Amino acid sequence: MNPAQRHAELVREIDAHNYRYYVLDDTVVTDADFDKLLRELTALEEAHPDLRTPDSPTQRVGGEARSQVAQVKHGTRMMSLDNAYAPDELAEFHRRVVEGLPDAETPRFCVEPKLDGASVEVVYDGGRVVQASTRGDGTIGEEITENVRTIRSVPLRIPHTGRITLRGEIIIYRRDHDALNTEREAQGLEPFANPRNAAAGAVRMLDPREVARRPLRAVFYHLVEGPRLHATQHESLEWLEAQGLPTHLRQTVIAWDEVAAAIDVIDRARATYPFETDGAVIKVDAYRQQDMLGMTSKFPKWAIAYKFKAEQARTRLLAITVQVGRTGTLTPVASVDPVELAGTTVSRATLHNAGMIEALDIRVGDMVFIQKAGEVIPQVTGVDVTARTGTEEKFRMPALCPSCGTPVARELRDADKPELGLGAATRCPNRACPEQVKQRIFYFSRRFAMDVDHLGTALVDQLVEQGIVKDMADLYSLTAERIAVLARMGEKSAQNVFASIERSKASTLDRLLCGLGIPQIGQVAARQLAEEMHTLDRMLSMSADEAREHVGAIHGFGPKMVDSVVAFLADPDQRELMRKLVKLGVGRPQPRDEVATDGPLKGMTFCVTGVLSRKREEVHADIRAAGGEVHDSVKKTTTVLVAGDKTGKSKLDQAKKYGTKVVTEPQLYDMMGAPAAS
Ligand code: AMP
Ligand code: ZN
Repeated sequence: MNPAQRHAELVREIDAHNYRYYVLDDTVVTDADFDKLLRELTALEEAHPDLRTPDSPTQRVGGEARSQVAQVKHGTRMMSLDNAYAPDELAEFHRRVVEGLPDAETPRFCVEPKLDGASVEVVYDGGRVVQASTRGDGTIGEEITENVRTIRSVPLRIPHTGRITLRGEIIIYRRDHDALNTEREAQGLEPFANPRNAAAGAVRMLDPREVARRPLRAVFYHLVEGPRLHATQHESLEWLEAQGLPTHLRQTVIAWDEVAAAIDVIDRARATYPFETDGAVIKVDAYRQQDMLGMTSKFPKWAIAYKFKAEQARTRLLAITVQVGRTGTLTPVASVDPVELAGTTVSRATLHNAGMIEALDIRVGDMVFIQKAGEVIPQVTGVDVTARTGTEEKFRMPALCPSCGTPVARELRDADKPELGLGAATRCPNRACPEQVKQRIFYFSRRFAMDVDHLGTALVDQLVEQGIVKDMADLYSLTAERIAVLARMGEKSAQNVFASIERSKASTLDRLLCGLGIPQIGQVAARQLAEEMHTLDRMLSMSADEAREHVGAIHGFGPKMVDSVVAFLADPDQRELMRKLVKLGVGRPQPRDEVATDGPLKGMTFCVTGVLSRKREEVHADIRAAGGEVHDSVKKTTTVLVAGDKTGKSKLDQAKKYGTKVVTEPQLYDMMGAPAAS
């Protein structure tokens, strides 16, 4: 197959996977296999730069950062929607619609979920995304084309070649939001309060490469301009869907007396939607009727948003306790009089930070409102000041760490992350602080890190409080007997804990690095770092300059990440801990297969077969050292088959079938630019 054909095939395949995953929310390919396709495409484009078109999936990683914000004037105003909070307000809307239409017209309606994200306008021309913008003030928005191009559910190419303008919402699925927050937590960053904030913050970021790392999706709900292809809202959405555009809104076209039931269906089902829904949007379906109704200065007269009641409860704030996190950050947490909220009994709520307590003037003893909005833990959103008796007490952040008594330090938050809100973070500077140690151990043992089962809170508390465990390395000096001696620990459970700890020793370096909690380094970055460094021992043996050079070469590592890793490696306490871990044999070298070095064979995959002049393992090692990847059989994604003497016919047949190039051993070494070892 020639490169252009293969390119077209890869693009098709990758687009199809993206569509299934991001639009249909149903996937058939593993991450690893998907990455492989993308890598093959990247390699192919590196070898044939002319094949790299702007709509290639490789271009989704994001181009250059914007240095300034460009403005876009919307062809038609991007309006907001009129709101209804109660059935009589809906009836009022209906009355106005009927009054606004001639007698002969009976409107029918679409009912759609109202998505809670950031609105966007996207223009396609010639089948390609040519412009995307935010709503801004409705007339003028901010240009965010490059950012939107990184969103996988937005096809970079559609069959229709005329100019069309779409409106939609950029959202983050709840589960992606949770994963994103876990990742941020791992990087020592503040979690986002909810998916909407995370999405709204991401779409306007200046660096599209950053945007590409956020799990954004788009859903289109409106075809604004272009040829009036259809007469109604629902037909337009069907057409958008046929174009491969994400519109997954279950809209129904119904008469008015069925609208209330349709809203109710959405209200009851919305807990099962993967995204946040804060209401239902009711629209007059026929464009002709929409035009007759027109708009006010703020919103169309043919649509209304019915807002669902937020899941809110009112209860007494009993106390504000202060928690100490793994990195020493102090966070206030509210204990409330247990109350029913969205089907669960709630007794704790977050207050985010001291600044928020001050801003809302929340006092201990107050009657407060708590609300669930996407977060797992509900949030205190306000105070019922009418219920004040005067005995309520203001909260002050303690001057001493509640765990170890060390005077706390105040630090300003990252000023370039405005979505986090301002205000100072309070931190306990004592690394040996028992609470910090406990949290670090916990973090270390979590699923995405060393995955130590059975290590519960009660046990960690005891281990730390009794001074048995002072750091992660101490876990590995525990014996089953020692654990069993502790209160509430039977022999069987002690055995289980011990076995899990032992098992975790064999975790690969990426997990170990994750568990160490290097600021800025989350799961993905830890994996890249591990692939670059291979073993912890090697990391420790590097000078600061060497480390900086290696880490700086990792794809996608910005200066902050590099600085953080280098500082971590230079920190005497951390070095001491890492040395202990190495000595105890904790952490497996990152598997060779996954070592992605740069080199002449980068992006290519090899299968080596037949009788060669050298041991097969040695040839494999050479290929990997040159940046190539090794498969042990010829697969669809294998680029090159290295055929020695007596190569089996089946391998050659496979190679032919998949268009895999067949080379001899000397040809392989030619490709590497190195002479075959004599
Ligand atoms: P608001 O900003 O509260 O006035 O609501 C208007 C916004 O709701 C629009 O700008 C859209 O971004 C958003 N929206 C979410 N889902 C829909 C939908 N199905 N139809 C129209 N607008 C929607
Ligand atoms: Zn402390």
